Amino acid sequence: MKIVRTVEEVRQAVRTWKAEGKTIGLVPTMGYLHEGHKSLIDRAVAENDHVVVSIFVNPIQFGPAEDLETYPRDLEKDSELCQTAGASLIFHPDPSQMYSPTFSSFINMSTLTGGLCGKTRPSHFQGVCTVVGKLFNIVEPNKAYFGQKDAQQLAVIRHMVEDLNFNLEIVGCPIVREADGLAKSSRNSYLSKDERKAALVLSQSLAIAQKMINEGERDTGKLTLAMTKHIENEPLAKIDYIEFVDWKTLEPVGLIDRPVLNAIAVYIGKTRLIDNHIYE
Ligand code: AMP
Repeated sequence: MKIVRTVEEVRQAVRTWKAEGKTIGLVPTMGYLHEGHKSLIDRAVAENDHVVVSIFVNPIQFGPAEDLETYPRDLEKDSELCQTAGASLIFHPDPSQMYSPTFSSFINMSTLTGGLCGKTRPSHFQGVCTVVGKLFNIVEPNKAYFGQKDAQQLAVIRHMVEDLNFNLEIVGCPIVREADGLAKSSRNSYLSKDERKAALVLSQSLAIAQKMINEGERDTGKLTLAMTKHIENEPLAKIDYIEFVDWKTLEPVGLIDRPVLNAIAVYIGKTRLIDNHIYE
């Protein structure tokens, strides 16, 4: 497995593989890899001849008051995980490799990005779409792998690929969780011992809604209220949003009467965590 830092080096590897008729899977990440990322790489390795993992803390998807500087990084551990999982190449560019001083072309989506995480993070999806679009053009993969953990991102990328005719398949992968239910996230490393315990309110509140729905409740107002009550019982937690939205349009729904995404974002101390459940 090679680690490369320039677009040209990626293109060269891709040219060789394509000339040999090989297929390529891409797993875009920001690094500090865990079992969630590994599940994407495993799936990509199973479905493609070669897998490229990009590790890039993309500056343009962070807001001015967000954690760009402190975002955890560990290239050595990440490369071990990628190597063991069977990836062929890590693309680990410097920001200057992706964004020249004159960079001025962005991908903006006029639907899907205004609600949920887009409300608190207004320029986030512009940054995500732009970097993912660039990665698609650099790697030219047959398939690209994204986690359902970032459900809005998955919906946005699927929509972008359709709108802009990117010639690849998007594969969505299930959420990987810790044994106690907390969704795995690189940002979990920010949590103190008490916060780690408090963070369980996210998966617990989703489970409360699931139980109510299994028992026949369909009113999203009542479901939201039950989830809110549970989270507000935890002093270290502060709700950013609890939403039930149509899993296609991401528009809020009053009833669970179609495929629905139940998405939440909660601050645990200073750390903003997200989680969700999809009712297909
Ligand atoms: P990130 O490095 O956080 O940008 O994540 C890179 C990719 O890994 C995204 O497609 C995420 O949705 C996915 N991912 C992150 N955490 C998980 C998880 N716990 N389970 C499944 N996929 C995940």
